[in-house]
Amino acid sequence: MPDFSRTPDGKIICTLIPGDGVGPECIAATQAIIQAAGVKLEFETRHAGESVFKQGIPSGVPQDTIDSIKKTRLVLKGPLGTPVGFGEKSANVTLRKLFETYANIRPVRELPGVKTPYSGRGIDLVVVRENVEDLYAGIEHMQTPGVAQCLKIISAKGCEKIVRTAFEFARSEGRKSVACATKSNIMKMTEGLLKRTFERIAPEYPDIQSWHVIIDNCAHQLVKKPEQFDVIVTTNMNGDIISDLTSALVGGLGFAPSANLGNDVAIFEAVHGSAPKYAGKDCINPTAVLLSGVAMLRYIGQFEAANAVEHAVLVTLEDCARKGVGTGDVVGYEKPNTLSTTAYTEKIIGNLGKRSEKWRVRDAKPIRMPQISAEPTFVKATSQRTVGADIFVEANLLPGDLGPKLEALLEGTALKLKMISNRGTKVYPLGGAITDCIDQYRCRCVLRQGGGKGESGTLADADLLAAMTRISSAPGLRWMHVEKLMEYSGEPGFTKAQGED
Ligand code: NAP
Repeated sequence: MPDFSRTPDGKIICTLIPGDGVGPECIAATQAIIQAAGVKLEFETRHAGESVFKQGIPSGVPQDTIDSIKKTRLVLKGPLGTPVGFGEKSANVTLRKLFETYANIRPVRELPGVKTPYSGRGIDLVVVRENVEDLYAGIEHMQTPGVAQCLKIISAKGCEKIVRTAFEFARSEGRKSVACATKSNIMKMTEGLLKRTFERIAPEYPDIQSWHVIIDNCAHQLVKKPEQFDVIVTTNMNGDIISDLTSALVGGLGFAPSANLGNDVAIFEAVHGSAPKYAGKDCINPTAVLLSGVAMLRYIGQFEAANAVEHAVLVTLEDCARKGVGTGDVVGYEKPNTLSTTAYTEKIIGNLGKRSEKWRVRDAKPIRMPQISAEPTFVKATSQRTVGADIFVEANLLPGDLGPKLEALLEGTALKLKMISNRGTKVYPLGGAITDCIDQYRCRCVLRQGGGKGESGTLADADLLAAMTRISSAPGLRWMHVEKLMEYSGEPGFTKAQGED
């Protein structure tokens, strides 16, 4: 647990970001309940998101918010709206990345009176989602006018951090199993890295059962038999999707809290977004933000207060179920038995100090975040050499015309054409594949006999550049991207194309 910033009278200071849409209402309810529970916290209000984008700050996160978080290292935030499809980045993602909160913990559990098709099956599971890498690194390019690319970045260090966090989290809550969900059968290098890291680290946690599940089957199993899962660790985008699914299993986004944890900063927020259609109507369910606040209380070691608030929520939901009332997402909006956000909040405050007889609250210990080397070169190879390059070429040609043209252009260079693929499928040398080609070709070029420099025979940059320049000198051809084909410790650092021998 980090050393928190405190007021002169010893209160922990927390940066409070009300957020957009329904955010301010959820945050106000949470703040009121936490304060009524007698928690000694000082809130420092700062802003991020839509209002900040409107001020012309493209990141959506102003400097005084960054300064406050750097000081407090503890954040309770409402959802932030993200402009869709334009240049601006999500302020949420920016906050998570700026402070390296690499683990996103998303618990869901069955709650009293929140009727779902799964009621009575005791769902109580947690998705531990990698939070800063993967496709959400946000590195995108238009490679040709009609072809977009997004890079999926997965690092050994990132995998190690998230896997260890998942096991440590399981231990902190006395959970029995951790499942690793990946698409390693297709993405052997990226998703496979998480699987391999998981399998290497799991034996260090013999008290916890571990298993691997392919992510699409995981989605299927979650719908079919969700009670088999305890903790699921997964990559960023997979985790984003399955955690919305898991929240639906227990009653929807109104009940799904989350914590973004790093080694220095922790940000607590609901899984849900700003739900703009409900903004300002005093009808939103604040439980997800409130339970995120409960997770924050546990994180700062205030276990009793956390349990008191969680029990008050359970007792309130039991009481609501008995009386047939509830927030709009539970009983329907604008019905005679619908509770406003304010009325629901007051009920919870009124139930502080009561304990549910039937529904339990987990005994938790502080989580021990993994301490991992900050060295950028986390993995060192015993040897490495460049054995060729994938040169991506824009061409308005069919493979049968492009292949011979490239072979002729590469004559006399250090590289020769091995094959061409289009969207991952080999299309040259021609093999009878029926491929609807686009104008982005991956041209796999390998070292010619004797083409490499030095003892180990590695492709020299000058030779690669010479080959690329030859390609672009031909009318109608343009290289727009290149990936070196690397061999690390004698193992290829690249995959084959579909159909490549
Ligand atoms: P959303 O805001 O999560 O809302 C989707 C739906 O979920 C709502 O229409 C509502 O369902 C339900 N819902 C959400 N919060 C609820 C609550 N507290 N109580 C009851 N029901 C709730 O997702 P979105 O509409 O896709 O996104 C809106 C904006 O939020 C976007 O700008 C998005 O980028 C942003 N966002 C921010 C965060 C974040 O800050 N961490 C996360 C996700 C999205 P019904 O319509 O069925 O009633």
